[in-house]
Amino acid sequence: MFTGTRCDIAIVGGGIVGSSVAYFLTRLAPAADVVVIEPDRTYALASTLRASGGARRQFSCPENIAMSNFSIPFIADADQALAVDGEPAHVEWRRGGYLFIVGRADVPVLRDNCDAQRAHGVDAVWLDGDALRTRFPSMNPVGIAAGVLTPGDGWCDPNGLLQGLRRKARALGAHYIDDRVVGIDHDAFAIRSVRLTSGRQLQAGALVNAAGAWAKEIAAMVDMPLPIEPLRRFEHYFETPNAIEPLPYVKDAARLAFRPEGGVAARSDGSHIQGYSGGLVDSDEPRGYNFDVDHGYFERVVWPALAHRFPAFETCRCKRTWSGLYEQNELDGNPVIGNWEDRLANFYVAAGFSGHGMMHAPAAGRAIAERIVHGRYESIDLTRLGYRRIAEHAPYPERGIL
Ligand SMILES: Cc1cc2nc3c(=O)[nH]c(=O)nc-3n(C[C@H](O)[C@H](O)[C@H](O)COP(=O)(O)OP(=O)(O)OC[C@H]3O[C@@H](n4cnc5c(N)ncnc54)[C@H](O)[C@@H]3O)c2cc1C
Repeated sequence: MFTGTRCDIAIVGGGIVGSSVAYFLTRLAPAADVVVIEPDRTYALASTLRASGGARRQFSCPENIAMSNFSIPFIADADQALAVDGEPAHVEWRRGGYLFIVGRADVPVLRDNCDAQRAHGVDAVWLDGDALRTRFPSMNPVGIAAGVLTPGDGWCDPNGLLQGLRRKARALGAHYIDDRVVGIDHDAFAIRSVRLTSGRQLQAGALVNAAGAWAKEIAAMVDMPLPIEPLRRFEHYFETPNAIEPLPYVKDAARLAFRPEGGVAARSDGSHIQGYSGGLVDSDEPRGYNFDVDHGYFERVVWPALAHRFPAFETCRCKRTWSGLYEQNELDGNPVIGNWEDRLANFYVAAGFSGHGMMHAPAAGRAIAERIVHGRYESIDLTRLGYRRIAEHAPYPERGIL
């Protein structure tokens, strides 16, 4: 147990982002005292445990493509890379691919994005209407003009990745303390210490705000305006007995997104059941810490979109719905990664991933660790995702499917 009163780097929030920062810090600076402050070791409300686990390279911003290019192989290899004393992590990576589908109006953007991904070495397969019909015969092609398949993408168990990062970071010397940050002391130029619920005070050479949907509250403790809001989003597990070809993670422009979950299960009557996990994000959902589950949402909103695009889902059954929070960056939907260079230079933010935080946690963790240890990005230049664009109200958004 960590009983010290000072550390080199304190990380606020031990979810997947904070744990990734801790892991990469222990790699880059093995002698540093790294302390992760996380009030809930069960992660009951953390976004990470409620995520769908998707990891893809289909983005338009070069930084996001590059982060995926690092993070996805990291996740795929994580079972061994994060093993402790020969015991592997349990990330359950499944290389099922991602498929984006769009109507005629969105074809130019999809084409541009496909070209951008290929320029970054991504295996992105362009599928016109005929190719889509041949490859995915269960899809209703009405209104769909083209798609892009990235076969190297897929999904994993977010909790498995979080626990793997946490366990490995601890094995390499990082400390986790069960406490909550309630205040931050600073002078004109730098963070000095954090105050915790327990009454404890911890001096820190640097502080990383990795509090996910709560990141704005941490930023407010140092008067940093951070436009990150909690946005409730539902995830559903549903099943169908109807035979469908193996599907990748499918996403469309209306934000319908789903993927197979688990294997095909045989039933006693000889029929088979395939499970799926997915949802449809409502961007107009009021912001706030709301975890209530609307059990009519699937039938009202998701099912019509799903059954229209894949008629085999007309008879599907939703078995479970849960809610979780996106940490939504209201400026542009991209994460804020970096330090507050103009004010408190040792205050770092890694938050606002707006639905992509699980897949980008490895790259973001490495980036923050590089900035702290080396004073600059060594692997991927994430300067454009820094706080400066927030301060200057200069959005840097993704184009196309979110
Ligand atoms: C339904 C759903 C589906 C999703 N699907 C995907 C997906 O397919 N792919 C993907 O990449 N992303 C997905 N996401 C997004 C992803 O879950 C998040 O971006 C990611 O988990 C953010 O990780 P985090 O560590 O920043 O936040 P969290 O996991 O929320 O961790 C933040 C931690 O900060 C702690 N904290 C809060 N306040 C304090 C304080 N004052 N002091 C100390 N600690 C504090 C909390 O206890 C919490 O554990 C999904 C999210 C949801 C809700």
